[in-house]
Amino acid sequence: MPEGDVVHRAAVRLGRALDGRVLVRSDFRVPRYATADLTGRTVLETVARGKHLLTRVEGDLTVHTHLRMEGSWQVSPAGRGLPRGDVVRLVLANDTWQAAGVRLGMVDLVATGQEDRLVGHLGPDLLGADWDEAEVLRRLARRPETSIGVALLDQRNLAGIGTIYRAETLFLAGVSPWRPVGAVEDLGAIVSLARRLMDGNRDRPDRTTTGDSRPGRGTWVYGRAGRPCLRCGHRISRGEMGAEPQERLIVWCRHCQPERPTG
Ligand SMILES: [Zn+2]
Repeated sequence: MPEGDVVHRAAVRLGRALDGRVLVRSDFRVPRYATADLTGRTVLETVARGKHLLTRVEGDLTVHTHLRMEGSWQVSPAGRGLPRGDVVRLVLANDTWQAAGVRLGMVDLVATGQEDRLVGHLGPDLLGADWDEAEVLRRLARRPETSIGVALLDQRNLAGIGTIYRAETLFLAGVSPWRPVGAVEDLGAIVSLARRLMDGNRDRPDRTTTGDSRPGRGTWVYGRAGRPCLRCGHRISRGEMGAEPQERLIVWCRHCQPERPTG
């Protein structure tokens, strides 16, 4: 699933292709906006907010998209063929470039002044210019009984983390994902570690949290369930976390990440 770093790069790509140019084509392939038409309007900018993308268009309009599980934005020279099959949800194109939103999880069109209806619930963005760690800690502290693994994925606390950064952050912090927020001694360290990991990858597609970007070496625990922990050799565990139907994969090392604080 695309996490904040991937979404950030999508925003940069969309910005390069669309910013400051007049749309000559807008093709919403979602029933709700089937008749929407943005042609003739200049695209102002695309910004990422956590895992959400906001493409602002002149005339106080914002196209909101979310990649969810398997979405992507594919940018190509104008006039090229679009991805085949019934996968394109939205096309935005100018004379030079076209951007095809493939398998997008959400597509909305709202007044720019009303973006908060879609993203106002989000906590501080890990990659945002308005990052505010104290605010994240305040939000986390509201539910001390929640397990830290669930809390980190709750975008109302902080925006941008998915299952990969969650698993890697908690491994590096040496904290079990099942430990309640209230029993984590240094929440600030976990939150700033998550930010450092994601920020270190914001401009690199070959994501790594180990410092090694060779294939298969980029993560400590994510994608390594059942294999030996790179630190202690114990077998990496896997499980599901969160309430149905929102449960999501979690991987962790029971030895390196104790459920209770040690010492
Ligand atoms: Zn271990």
